[in-house]
Amino acid sequence: MKKTNSMKLQFVSRSANEGFARTAVSGFLASLDPTVEELADIKTAVSEAVTNCIVHAYADRIGIVYIAADLYVDGRVVIRDKGCGIPDVEKAMEPLFTTGGEDRAGLGFAVMQSLMDKVRVRSQVGKGTTVTLERRIESRGDQNDRDTE
Ligand code: ATP
Ligand code: MG
Repeated sequence: MKKTNSMKLQFVSRSANEGFARTAVSGFLASLDPTVEELADIKTAVSEAVTNCIVHAYADRIGIVYIAADLYVDGRVVIRDKGCGIPDVEKAMEPLFTTGGEDRAGLGFAVMQSLMDKVRVRSQVGKGTTVTLERRIESRGDQNDRDTE
């Protein structure tokens, strides 16, 4: 499939940067002229994934969070860390499962899945986690092959 645009971003895992990540991804997607709802959904999913890097992957240290976004007909955002990793991804993705105790609801992955067309998680304990979020963008911009009305 033809790639129409792409970007890469990396930042330290400080909670202040969660807002930066949302805004940066949203600014990047603006070229596709997404609907308010499409943008809000993607921003929320990105926030959940980035928050997981900050609070779980690098629970007791500051590490680097990597984001890569590619635009095809669909938008694809990959959020990656080199943190602690997830021993059982299937279990971690079950709604209400959390290792975060009282502070966490265990709903981040469920939220990502409800808002995105596709969520893929790959993880290795001690090496890190890669979350791939995909969502079709009904673009009215000029960056893909869709006919204009
Ligand atoms: P909430 O997102 O509702 O605040 P939560 O973060 O615990 O709670 P999820 O986002 O669904 O819920 O994540 C479930 C669990 O998966 C986490 O509690 C954590 O154990 C693990 N996890 C998720 N992302 C990562 C990551 N990037 N690195 C290591 N562990 C992770
Ligand atoms: Mg979470």
